[in-house]
Amino acid sequence: MIRHAVTLSVGDELLAGETLDTHGRTIAASLSARGCRVLQHRVLGDDVSDIAAAIVAATVGADLVVITGGLGPTLDDVSREALAEAMNESLVEDPASRMHLDQWYAGRGRVMPVGNVRQALRPTSATCIENPNGTAPGLRARVGAALVVVLPGPPREMRPMLEGVLNDELSGESRPTIVVRAFGIGESDAAERIEPLMRRDARLPVATTVSQSLLSARIRGNVPDDRDSIETLAVQVETAWHPFVFGRDDVTLSMALGAELKKAGHTIATAESCTGGLVAAMLTEVPGSSGWYPGGWVTYENTRKVEDLGVDAELIEQDGAVSRSVVSAMADGARRRAGSDYGVSISGVAGPDGGSADKPVGTVWIAVADEAGIDARCFCFSGDRPVVRDRAANTALQLTRLRLRGDDSDLLWQRDARS
Ligand code: ATP
Ligand code: MG
Repeated sequence: MIRHAVTLSVGDELLAGETLDTHGRTIAASLSARGCRVLQHRVLGDDVSDIAAAIVAATVGADLVVITGGLGPTLDDVSREALAEAMNESLVEDPASRMHLDQWYAGRGRVMPVGNVRQALRPTSATCIENPNGTAPGLRARVGAALVVVLPGPPREMRPMLEGVLNDELSGESRPTIVVRAFGIGESDAAERIEPLMRRDARLPVATTVSQSLLSARIRGNVPDDRDSIETLAVQVETAWHPFVFGRDDVTLSMALGAELKKAGHTIATAESCTGGLVAAMLTEVPGSSGWYPGGWVTYENTRKVEDLGVDAELIEQDGAVSRSVVSAMADGARRRAGSDYGVSISGVAGPDGGSADKPVGTVWIAVADEAGIDARCFCFSGDRPVVRDRAANTALQLTRLRLRGDDSDLLWQRDARS
């Protein structure tokens, strides 16, 4: 049974900082979802003896070694040679891979460069893994008691091949996992609400993380039979974090809002200033969003707020563009002009300049308008410009989602919160 893995990312460009090594993370996520623990991850240059030594060392403690990169056609790609050295074998041409290579080039009406023939080589006792998206096949071999897999570097080639190998080798060992997603609640507050579930000595401890201001609780079973237990834990987290939970696993805030709008048969229009269309981009990321999102406005300059959304110029003069009155008029204007059920608007100071004593950098007004009225709130987001913009956009989505559900809870970073 495969329980422990070592992963090796190969490439001089990774060590030079030119390419970010993301494969370590991708592979670790796939492995841990299948109950296999990554003992170590290393980044290595394109060097035969370094890679061979790392393979041999890895096979001491791990049952699986996954190597990515260095399978290209050029002489600086040496993972194939390194595997052969670690196995003490020579390289031979694999007839099926050679045929795949010939067909790949013939199918594209191209002549195969001489160097590419190398890509059909494998250590004598190794087998090749088919690569449907490129020329370099992967390699699968036994080194000592461990299974060693070498995959090409390009992510779109590597990922499907990795899934194929893991499905073959680790099927039936999957660890059920549920990730509960929330936004608008602070991490410490959230952790306090589920403290007993997070105890390290619990049989299935719940772990929380914050990434790009989105809060997640990860609940992982040890064996497939834990499915019911993790479902019970997930419901407990969802109850404790209500109403900030918007979904599970890969659901995004915009997907959750879209689902609410679709269910209600409602539409929404956007009017954005400091987020410059971020909310629109998030909404249109959702397939089928044209069913509930007719569109919106980026009204960055005051004239645009007046001309495009019908905001009273005097309001801007009197209260400033970052104010309750202006953001309310923006949301209402967007709703009326688009003929939508909801209008959501954002106007704030994203920084680094433009802050003042009463409106420091990070001050953002957000409003949601519907038939019943307008809910406008002021937020004080910490962070630099991209962080402020991201938090403002997510907050606008969550505020709208909550209004659709008839919930007016205060959100994280809200100024003058009522509780
Ligand atoms: P080929 O040379 O045929 O493209 P290869 O197997 O030799 O394939 P590399 O040359 O090592 O692969 O990498 C090709 C590209 O794949 C790199 O330029 C990089 O963009 C991406 N890549 C490789 N390794 C990684 C990694 N660890 N993380 C993220 N991207 C990577
Ligand atoms: Mg390379």
